[in-house]
Amino acid sequence: MPKETLNPFEIAQKQIKTACDRLNADPAVYEILKNPMRVLEVSFPVKMDDGSIKSFTGYRSQHNNAVGPYKGGIRFHQNVTRDEVKALSTWMTFKCSVVGIPYGGGKGGITIDPKEYSQAELERISKAYAAAISPLIGEKVDIPAPDVNTNGQIMSWMIDSYEKIAGKSAPGVFTGKPLGFGGSLARTEATGYGVSLSAKKALEKIGKNINSATFAVQGFGNVGFYTAYYAHKNGAKIVAISNVDTAFYNENGIDMEKVIKEVEEKGFVTNNGYGKEIPHNELLELEVDVLAPCALENQITSENADRIKAKVIVEGANGPTTPEADEILFKKGIIVVPDILANSGGVAVSYFEWVQNLQNYYWEFDEVQQKEDALLSKAFEEVWALSEKYKTDLRNASYMKSIERIAKAMKLRGWY
Ligand code: NAD
Repeated sequence: MPKETLNPFEIAQKQIKTACDRLNADPAVYEILKNPMRVLEVSFPVKMDDGSIKSFTGYRSQHNNAVGPYKGGIRFHQNVTRDEVKALSTWMTFKCSVVGIPYGGGKGGITIDPKEYSQAELERISKAYAAAISPLIGEKVDIPAPDVNTNGQIMSWMIDSYEKIAGKSAPGVFTGKPLGFGGSLARTEATGYGVSLSAKKALEKIGKNINSATFAVQGFGNVGFYTAYYAHKNGAKIVAISNVDTAFYNENGIDMEKVIKEVEEKGFVTNNGYGKEIPHNELLELEVDVLAPCALENQITSENADRIKAKVIVEGANGPTTPEADEILFKKGIIVVPDILANSGGVAVSYFEWVQNLQNYYWEFDEVQQKEDALLSKAFEEVWALSEKYKTDLRNASYMKSIERIAKAMKLRGWY
């Protein structure tokens, strides 16, 4: 058997190729989309608290801007590489396009373990990185946002640095900003809200109502927590939860009111008598209606795909299922709502934040969430229809829908 593909950039290329072939697209389409259009590598010196100078390496990858400016997060992690940001920027192009927002994909990062630095050092590092990539970003050029280990404070420092260089106010150049500093209401909840909405819609397609469905949620950070929160609000029974430290199961339903209170107080969940402790990998194999992997990539592989018993998988995380596992799940009749569709609520509300910034006019919480709901629901229905028409899975249908839109824009521009 060939070795399973675990490199995210190779997986992304494989997914694009499969969709291009199925669409019978002009060969030029894959030729253009298989690589990012521009990758910037920067090296910048920063003064440390003890007076010494340290040089850092950072990247910004811009995949494709046929339908609009590049958009995507900035990651601070010791494993950030040129290839990783290239892969993540590629996925962003298709995520933006599947929900029809006018952006192409971008991604950036610094190879750094942020835990090793003081707040003052992180501020200087963030500002120096923003200055280093400033020639290639802008409100109408490339709009970064938070990703792993970055947050609203870091975006605020970067904006300050960028605006000093640009010599003008430009709140829309970064999204994911804190409320009161150009951030949008309903952004924090947006990704999990969308994952839960995707689950609701997929369940409806198989004749089930979310209010009688059972959920297992792997990973209980921003995405996992809000997925469970909104599923619970819709009447679902959350039977299993895990994070890096614990995994627990309660067939009668976990007491979500207590879990929500604990997470709001502490920022994370512990097994506070909510259920019986189970091995982490068992959570993925439980007999539930919905499995929501919301932690890491490569969780469902050819090794365990055969043992998955969920009826629906909604990918809160990016890349939790390998292409080999996808094939097995499709044959078993399990519906997989892919990451680029299921977790696109985050970038959708980032787009709303940008629109509000450009208008300098801010919307209420419910208005933002209703707009997110409308955008994602429409995309879900269109992808579903395409998957039926081509008798293919939702991942391939999502890529096909995205590629059709990007290919049309590239053709109009005369790129092929
Ligand atoms: P987070 O850091 O807030 O949470 C991650 C969670 O996963 C934590 O609870 C952590 O304990 C848990 N975890 C880590 N390793 C685990 C393991 N082996 N088993 C079980 N749990 C484990 O991150 P997040 O923002 O919730 O992002 C989660 C995933 O969703 C990532 O793949 C991210 O790229 C993706 N995503 C996030 C957003 C967003 O808006 N935050 C948007 C789109 C996609």
